[in-house]
Amino acid sequence: DSQRGAESVQEILELFAEVCATHEAELGQLDAVAGDGDHGQGMVLGSRGAVEAGRKARERGAGARTLLIHAGTAWAESAGGTSGALWGSALTAAGRALADDAAPDSSAGVEALLNAVEAVQRLGGAQPGDKTMVDAAAPFAQTLDKQFQAQESLSAALAAAASVATEAAASTAELKARLGRSRVLGEKSLGTPDPGATSFALLMTALAERLKS
Ligand code: ADP
Ligand code: MG
Ligand code: MG
Repeated sequence: DSQRGAESVQEILELFAEVCATHEAELGQLDAVAGDGDHGQGMVLGSRGAVEAGRKARERGAGARTLLIHAGTAWAESAGGTSGALWGSALTAAGRALADDAAPDSSAGVEALLNAVEAVQRLGGAQPGDKTMVDAAAPFAQTLDKQFQAQESLSAALAAAASVATEAAASTAELKARLGRSRVLGEKSLGTPDPGATSFALLMTALAERLKS
């Protein structure tokens, strides 16, 4: 039902906020190597804003869909920055795969995650190899889709996808950043993983862990 759906989405937002807070310093340090050092802060502010908006939406009796759409807007507004806009649109796109009057089932969950990654790719326009969040998100989505279609459970498919994302995020250390940074800064990023790919993998790993049956 609608209350149960909203509650489980809100719990996931709270989990994300917890993970962002735990890794704030580390994500900031990764971003300081070739960026402006604010990725940890942006993720903390964005996820907190999303939790707050989710709480308010629930007070008004919103279902999962409406809650997540509002949370996405709040994430983008609270975080600022590139990754904030991308995570905001990801949450909103995920919400559009859900219903308000029913708790999401496994296939709605998969649909929501695939929609989220698609929104990031559409809005950001990054290609794999550009050293962005997409380098973790694209293989994550491919694995999730493939495993779920091969009749794996949501939790098994998500665990496999999160592990692929973690490896892919680590592998971005070998890439030079191309988007939104000067060539000089791109060179500097060699040897350091992309902050946005790293935070994506951390959040999906936590989500997979939470949904383990
Ligand atoms: P800002 O760059 O505005 O300071 P953040 O530091 O929060 O924002 O986020 C930086 C991260 O955003 C990068 O590590 C990268 O993963 C991600 N990012 C930047 N541009 C794009 C893009 N066009 N597509 C996908 N992800 C991107
Ligand atoms: Mg930054
Ligand atoms: Mg910034």
